[in-house]
Amino acid sequence: MTDTFSLPPDAAEPRLTVAAATLERLRTVPALAPRYAGRPAAVRTLDELAALPPLLKDDLNTALAHLEPRSDTAATWLFQSGGSTGAPKVGYAPTGFYMAGVHAHWPVLDRADVFANAWGAGRMWGAHFLAAALADRAGCRVIALGSITREEYPDWLAFLADREVTAIGGTPSVLRLWFAHARAAGLKLPSLRKVLWLGEAWQPQLEEDLAVVAPGARRWGMFGSTETWVVGTNTPDCPADTFHPLPTQLVHAGADGLLDFTTLDPEMLNPVLRYRTGDAGELTTCPCGRPGAAMRVLGRRDNVVQVRGLGLHVDELVARAEREPGVSRAQVVVSEDGGRATGVEVLLLADPAAGVDPAALRAELVAGTFTLSTAFQHDPEQVTVRVVDALVSNDRTGKTASLVVREESS
Ligand SMILES: [Zn+2]
Repeated sequence: MTDTFSLPPDAAEPRLTVAAATLERLRTVPALAPRYAGRPAAVRTLDELAALPPLLKDDLNTALAHLEPRSDTAATWLFQSGGSTGAPKVGYAPTGFYMAGVHAHWPVLDRADVFANAWGAGRMWGAHFLAAALADRAGCRVIALGSITREEYPDWLAFLADREVTAIGGTPSVLRLWFAHARAAGLKLPSLRKVLWLGEAWQPQLEEDLAVVAPGARRWGMFGSTETWVVGTNTPDCPADTFHPLPTQLVHAGADGLLDFTTLDPEMLNPVLRYRTGDAGELTTCPCGRPGAAMRVLGRRDNVVQVRGLGLHVDELVARAEREPGVSRAQVVVSEDGGRATGVEVLLLADPAAGVDPAALRAELVAGTFTLSTAFQHDPEQVTVRVVDALVSNDRTGKTASLVVREESS
């Protein structure tokens, strides 16, 4: 695999003034300045950009803590940007959330739509507000649903059917709940045409429920992060893992197979310069026939597992458990049912004489892990800590990984 960019030099290089300005901002961050010392003073070419070191999530959090950016023209919103332990790390965006460009290039919603926004609102999550900004551009009707509890699905589904909802949006895990509940209850959404998704990979099992509940509905995907905001979009004619980058997003596929992102939008508050989300991927041609480079996302390379739409940093959780006196090793087991996380179990190898208290450790892990406390707020009993005689090993390789994902048969 070779180094490639989503835009050719003649299209990208005139707009690298934004990347050059981002580099200047990053050079003012004391903790990051040394890594840029000795690099070219400006970024004028794609080769010069590719020579800059990539930024990781922690780097960006460090930069933002120093820069504290502020919009010149709108309110500045704080959103949670990773940081699975302790207080949420913060990313910034102005009102509008850069969705004008998404609306211009992604013909998903129009004035005739009735759009149910099922991304969770509050807790500094960005997706609900981003989707609301898109709906605002489209001029459609909006039903701001947010997240609901298990018992509420039948009533809300009946309401959505009654309102003749044509579009719904959420993370695939949440959408699966909606359509699985509808299917189980025998409810149909015959007017639903569009399923908007963002936040994790598309789940093919959704197609099975959709075929029964809303046979006229098709998937429309966005790819992005709280740091980059929306990078690219796709349509029902594109493979679910392939996205067309927006012209303000320069995507780079490194020779190591990792994607990084550089903003070409002068309004972007986060200093996104060769920012790595941890996603592996490649640039490709989309079979939908739209010209230009598309990116295929091949999944995460860092040890982060998606749990109900939130990233769970496995290594951090294991390290925290292994700090407990008497614990020699810890392992995270995520149970899934058809791609949705049903529970998280932390297994411990412990010295029996040390008197390790799993309940106390569990309380500490949940309190200190944003993803665990948030994703399981309605069923906290699904997060457990247990002392075992042996961790789960792969029989074939003999390896004991820090993360095991276990598919339950439903
Ligand atoms: Zn396409």
